[in-house]
Amino acid sequence: MSSDEISRYLSQSHDAVFARNRAWASAEQARDPTFFAKLSAGQKPEYLWIGCSDSRIPAEQITGLGAGEAFVHRNIANLVVNADLNAMAVIEYAVAHLRVKHVVVCGHYGCGGVKAAMTPKDLGLLNPWLRNIRDVYRLHEAELDAIETEDARYDRLVELSVVEQCRNVIKTAAVQQSYERDHFPIVHGWVFDFKDGLLKDLKINHEEMLHSIQKIYNLTKEKH
Ligand SMILES: [Zn+2]
Repeated sequence: MSSDEISRYLSQSHDAVFARNRAWASAEQARDPTFFAKLSAGQKPEYLWIGCSDSRIPAEQITGLGAGEAFVHRNIANLVVNADLNAMAVIEYAVAHLRVKHVVVCGHYGCGGVKAAMTPKDLGLLNPWLRNIRDVYRLHEAELDAIETEDARYDRLVELSVVEQCRNVIKTAAVQQSYERDHFPIVHGWVFDFKDGLLKDLKINHEEMLHSIQKIYNLTKEKH
């Protein structure tokens, strides 16, 4: 492609987003004339969604949730890292201020971040990020190494990482204190599968996980 063709292509793909935005806004307006007035009045989402940045997993589209129903945080490989100010601020705001009822950590099979973490190689700035997944591998090394095929081991690491991120959500003061006071939010671990577009519920036992971490990580006033 010549540089003229490239710049024409770039301006077309940029403008296409605005065309789609106008189409969306007028369709919503036609469907419900009060739609934008309701949105501008404020948000009261029931869900905090923590998902992968992967472009193929748009939280609202795969769950059918509409505007205003989910507070969304996405990063590479849906990690919840306790020194990540961004993720911690999102959890604090969603739980303590928006008072969401559910926190969902949603991973997906075929996650490039998890795959990269399984590859022992220097990946520059990605090293400290992916190390969180390598740490999950180390925690479950015996189980993972006993799995025969590379693909099955990869799938299992995706699941184990989601469970570990759920545990990290539960370790936060916001979640522990809100749950002690109001009995919500409940933390869920899900995995999206490209094969059929379905979500698998890993059936995290929130209560049991909370009690199991509170021996060491308790941040409520109650003794555990
Ligand atoms: Zn991913």
